[in-house]
Amino acid sequence: MKFWAYFAAKVAALAAPLFGLRSLLDVIWPPLPRMFENYRPSRFAYDLPYTLAVLIWFLLCCGALYLAVWDQRYRCRVCLRRLRMPVETGSWSRMLQFGRPRIEYICPYGHGTLKEDELQISGRETPQWNAHSDDLWEELCAASKETGIEP
Ligand SMILES: [Zn+2]
Repeated sequence: MKFWAYFAAKVAALAAPLFGLRSLLDVIWPPLPRMFENYRPSRFAYDLPYTLAVLIWFLLCCGALYLAVWDQRYRCRVCLRRLRMPVETGSWSRMLQFGRPRIEYICPYGHGTLKEDELQISGRETPQWNAHSDDLWEELCAASKETGIEP
């Protein structure tokens, strides 16, 4: 819940100046004169400089939304800090032994790990988030049980 609330707040913070910029466009370009009593023709798609300005504004909106989603993707799902320490795992030359190459990011406070494929052939895939338990010793003991080495 906190994760999505942060994303919504970030999008709202980006939308406010973009809305102001859109309002500034309406101030810069004077409105067209009224043709009838209350009918005022639209400037969009009839006035080329205004239409180009709206196109640039739209591209800014798309870029801002992309940056918000990109930033949110690499944040911890629990504490919202940026994920750090990218580690490359796997190998293309030894794919059957080690698996496909992936990049793993970890929360600096140990809340979880994000595993993302290094090469995304079939389109953008959703990275896999693995939450860690609060008990550090449980994970360390589980790792030693897999290898058969007792601590
Ligand atoms: Zn965290």
